[in-house]
Amino acid sequence: MLSPNLNDYDALYSSFNWEEESKLLEGLPGGKGLNIAHEAVDRHANSHLKDTVAIRVIRKNKMLDDYTYSSLKTETSKFANVLSSLGIQKGEGVFTLLGRVPELYISALGALKYQAVFCPLFSVFGPEPVFQRLSKGEAKVLVTTKAFFENKIKQLLDRLPSLKLVLLVDINEDISEKILSYSKWMEQVSGKFQISPTAAEDPALLHFTSGTTGMPKGALHVHKAVYTHYVTGKYVLDFHEGDVFWCTADPGWVTGTSYGIIAPLVNGVTSIVDEEEFDAMRWYGLLESQKISVWYTAPTAIRRLMRVDLNPKETYNLKNLRLVLSVGEPLHAEAVVWGQKAFGAPVLDNWWQTETGGIMIANYRSLKVKPGSMGKPLPGVAAGIADVEGDKIKIISSPEVQGHLVLRKDLPSMFRTYLHEEARYQKCFRGEWYLTGDLAKIDADGYFWFVGRADDIIKTSGHMVGPFEVESTLMKHPAVAEAAVIGKPEPSIGELVKAFVVLKDGYEDSNDMKMEITGFARKEMGPAVAPKEIEFVENLPKTRSGKILRRLLKARELGLPEGDLSTLETN
Ligand code: ATP
Ligand code: MG
Repeated sequence: MLSPNLNDYDALYSSFNWEEESKLLEGLPGGKGLNIAHEAVDRHANSHLKDTVAIRVIRKNKMLDDYTYSSLKTETSKFANVLSSLGIQKGEGVFTLLGRVPELYISALGALKYQAVFCPLFSVFGPEPVFQRLSKGEAKVLVTTKAFFENKIKQLLDRLPSLKLVLLVDINEDISEKILSYSKWMEQVSGKFQISPTAAEDPALLHFTSGTTGMPKGALHVHKAVYTHYVTGKYVLDFHEGDVFWCTADPGWVTGTSYGIIAPLVNGVTSIVDEEEFDAMRWYGLLESQKISVWYTAPTAIRRLMRVDLNPKETYNLKNLRLVLSVGEPLHAEAVVWGQKAFGAPVLDNWWQTETGGIMIANYRSLKVKPGSMGKPLPGVAAGIADVEGDKIKIISSPEVQGHLVLRKDLPSMFRTYLHEEARYQKCFRGEWYLTGDLAKIDADGYFWFVGRADDIIKTSGHMVGPFEVESTLMKHPAVAEAAVIGKPEPSIGELVKAFVVLKDGYEDSNDMKMEITGFARKEMGPAVAPKEIEFVENLPKTRSGKILRRLLKARELGLPEGDLSTLETN
């Protein structure tokens, strides 16, 4: 067993220094600054890793598309040269509307080399959400497919005056001066590109938030974010040379960039990309055939695997799997315990957000895992629980007290603004603290526990109830596959706790079952907090990044407008 990179959490936490830790990142040759693509690709292409596979894309037809660090350097240089020959300027927006195809990775890293600002979009977005983001982000270039162009983009062109070029990855000839063939342009440029001086604070990445709580915001990150990609890759994902890593996140979401592209490459490991969507058996097959050692996925995926009646460790050879990690939503204790047994590897929950650009609170291989907890702050990250009232903030020092989860803002990957929403950005800060919008508490051992989003908290009979707590309890019942909890206005008690429950296969949605689950919840958590109403549903509404849209359940329950649903997963 490889020993963990992070051996002594307390020692590293107390001595941590970002500059010192990121010393391995060499910066651009000649002291010309810091560029993410150089650290992720070119640095390794000039080292003993040059022939190591950087990215392996498993195509829909099962063919393997391998890019070594050396070939990735050439391809991304070509893309940078294409941007240059087409007259794109540094700092301009290069967007993608693509599935997990090689061109996505090449465009992203090529754009970073060129110092354009890269922004990925969910490929399932319909025309309107695409329009909103392209216009808000002032996209200059869009890389997409012919079908997406025909179905979603063509009709928007008149409304997108700043969109200069559309590169289609699956045509061979240009259609017009504006609609070009990606491959044709890639063929006619050089595979050599020298990255211009890049300041660590130059803008690099734009990501729209998931829209779980409302209209998505465009969080802007700078090249210095690569420190976080590197450090979290080393200490949380515990990358070792020779690792094969698989991040299942959709590329339209920040995890798809930070951990689907950058972090594994910066750490010099091999990244597996699966072009297809979730399928339990195929996923297990992939873990086995690709000899995945580190696997980064999400609670929804783990819950879906839990619903399959199968013991993966007995059916598949998972002996290479050293570590499973999860992000995006709270990972229920049940799932942590199940996963550890089912995969034969620790399942480590970690917490972060689009705004933070990388993992901020995590469980680590070398620390005892408390199932249901998000773990402890990344070394280099100061996190706390605070009372916030208006402009005032007070850090709470006693354990087990619930409050706002806040982070000290001086972090390499912290967002530098919400694009065109400076006021909304400023509202996130109180002095040196950034308010995450989540509520949490810290236990006596310094572990952080997620309580809920500030917006989702339920006030019932004088109690503040976090949906996560109730959902976790419901998940302990053998018949419950998934649950989402909301507060429903009720004059006598403020709000009543209502649960939407998805049953596991083989359980009947009868009145008896309702009574049984209600009784179970009352016994576990007391009548004040247990759901007063339970409704069985087939599925829970989720964002494309796998988050339960409680605000939508609530709006529907109350007959209110449904709000922005651009990120709603519809299949
Ligand atoms: P929006 O900000 O548009 O409402 P969003 O907050 O869902 O959407 P993201 O930045 O993609 O957009 O998600 C970050 C949020 O996801 C966190 O603030 C937190 O609420 C939740 N989250 C992420 N990881 C975890 C985790 N491990 N445990 C609990 N919650 C998590
Ligand atoms: Mg958010």
